[in-house]
Amino acid sequence: MSDGWTDHPGFSGGCQCGAVRYRVASGPTKAVICHCRMCQRATGNAFAPLLQVKPEAVTWTGTPSEWASSSVAWRGFCRTCGTPLYFRTEDGIELMAGTMAPGTPFEAQYNASVESRVGWLGALHDAPSRTTDPAILAEVESYQSPEE
Ligand SMILES: [Zn+2]
Ligand SMILES: [Zn+2]
Repeated sequence: MSDGWTDHPGFSGGCQCGAVRYRVASGPTKAVICHCRMCQRATGNAFAPLLQVKPEAVTWTGTPSEWASSSVAWRGFCRTCGTPLYFRTEDGIELMAGTMAPGTPFEAQYNASVESRVGWLGALHDAPSRTTDPAILAEVESYQSPEE
């Protein structure tokens, strides 16, 4: 497929509380890492991993809230738990990769708006890696919705 679009097997996802969920049919997608300042603030993160999909491929359960972040774009989120779900323009919708079910393929085509990329990102590879302590998990009751 041309112009960076790749075929995708389809996937599901949703917000942390489960009030808003989506299903994306198989079809063309384009994965981009956006480092722009708007995506940083909208996600509370260093960057937004976005999977562009055809709007007609998305089926929603629950209704996302939207905020117009500019004259041409809207940010979708769950009004209950606050999870950022997508970036949308008149031309398309880009879903946040963190809301997708584990194992959903995501192959970034490129890094966008790198003029705003945080300086510490490259150092992450050198930081030590730790798994979550099972003893801590055993003491905590999660209110997060199931993935499916
Ligand atoms: Zn929610
Ligand atoms: Zn952005």
